[in-house]
Amino acid sequence: MGEAALDDEECDYLFKAVMIGDSAVGKSNLLSRFAREEFRLDSKPTIGVEFACRSLRIGDKLVKAQIWDTAGQERFRAITSSYYRGALGALLVYDVTRRVTFENLPKWIRELRELADPTLVIALVGNKSDLVHMREVGEEEGKSLAEREGLCFMETSALENRNVEEAFLQMITRIREILKQKSL
Ligand code: GDP
Repeated sequence: MGEAALDDEECDYLFKAVMIGDSAVGKSNLLSRFAREEFRLDSKPTIGVEFACRSLRIGDKLVKAQIWDTAGQERFRAITSSYYRGALGALLVYDVTRRVTFENLPKWIRELRELADPTLVIALVGNKSDLVHMREVGEEEGKSLAEREGLCFMETSALENRNVEEAFLQMITRIREILKQKSL
């Protein structure tokens, strides 16, 4: 059976995760890579929350991730608690070529901790690692912030499809571990 044929009843775990971070860091391209394995050059869909689903097998379990994207709303600070409600994971993205997007991370982490579930798994993602000569944030800086805050960490390139699968899988695997503990 193909992955796309799975419906909610057929998977062992179904959960919601959200994409968050400053505008234009690559959230929607990371999500389309992960969900549809493609890169969109002309970004920006219409305003409104969107989501994509992907089913995968982790160990002996079928896990379906429903991942929400802000679809540009973060620009207007219109993200509210309803966006985070019920989410078990968040992919918090910054752009390694724009230092300001890294400096804004504490604000996003605060917001996630205020509005989301306390067991929320946060995966910190430094995107656009392909733009080597434009880099403004070192990999070590991302790594040490993640360690201080207890987050997963990965640098990615949505353009070159580098580490994208790994970044999502890191988060999903951790969520699955938490769900397993909860169901014991
Ligand atoms: P969002 O606003 O955070 O959802 O960001 P988008 O996914 O719309 O991407 C913003 C811009 O960055 C677009 O012009 C993308 O083509 C570009 N972009 C996204 N990811 C990458 C990447 O990994 N490398 C490069 N070079 N450009 C990227």
